[in-house]
Amino acid sequence: MEAWRRCQKTNLLQSESVEIPSSHHFLQLIAIPDTHSSGSLILVQDLTRVRRLETVRRDFVSNISHELRTPLASLKALTETLQNGALSDPTAGPRFLGRINAEVDALTQMAQELLDLSRIESGQVELNLAPLHPKKLLISAADRMRMQTERGGLNLSIKCEEGLPNIRADQFRLEQVLVNIIHNAIKFTKPGGEILLGAESIVGGVRFKVRDTGVGIPPESLSRIFERFYRVDRSRTGAGTGLGLSISRHIIEAHGGKIWAESDERHGSVFYFTLPCLSVIS
Ligand code: ADP
Repeated sequence: MEAWRRCQKTNLLQSESVEIPSSHHFLQLIAIPDTHSSGSLILVQDLTRVRRLETVRRDFVSNISHELRTPLASLKALTETLQNGALSDPTAGPRFLGRINAEVDALTQMAQELLDLSRIESGQVELNLAPLHPKKLLISAADRMRMQTERGGLNLSIKCEEGLPNIRADQFRLEQVLVNIIHNAIKFTKPGGEILLGAESIVGGVRFKVRDTGVGIPPESLSRIFERFYRVDRSRTGAGTGLGLSISRHIIEAHGGKIWAESDERHGSVFYFTLPCLSVIS
């Protein structure tokens, strides 16, 4: 009303932005004098989505800088220590070089995952879809993770319902999802624990699951672990970028499926994802 009044009084274009706290809407108002009559033209644009995207972008940039700061600070401290004499120390020298190598690996992994994420999010990754049997997918992912599971002192098994339909899937990308989830299960489960991979039929598709007997995930974090950079407890996580599940969610959604997790902190976590079966898609 104020913009309109000012426009009527001055005969000049007026603009105002308005935030409606109750509905979180952000509106842009423009009042334009109408030269043919005594009225004004009022234009209202809903910029809520644009504003939200700006916030997401700002948060993303600040998250990345934050994530880069820690490994870069370690690299700086390690190289300075080496320069100040540790290089000629026969035990400390190689140890510090080993840690530099590990930090560089972590940074390289983060760069690769960020690139993956941005390519998947912007729709640049084309899925190579072909008929795939759920059991074949589970066996292939389990084979890739077998060594790591054994090294972690864990038992990895597969329980796949008989007679499941084929899914239309990009095997490489779906294996990436399963490897991410199994990798987390290994990281968060103590030696002696169990990891179970399963697949069962649901209406219109197949539901996959990965169950572990690990530390579990607190209820308030369950919906957030699929966000970029989200980690439940940075101190217990050890190495990890917080990007793996975010990438997995994009891959599953690009297949027309859904992904979620359930957890009981005493018994471990279960990750589920669904994929439509061939007959539903065609
Ligand atoms: P990260 O590289 O840190 O593993 P992810 O996106 O794969 O990143 O996972 C996000 C966070 O979710 C992890 O840091 C961890 O806190 C939590 N999480 C994921 N899987 C499990 C699991 N099986 N058990 C307990 N916590 C988990």
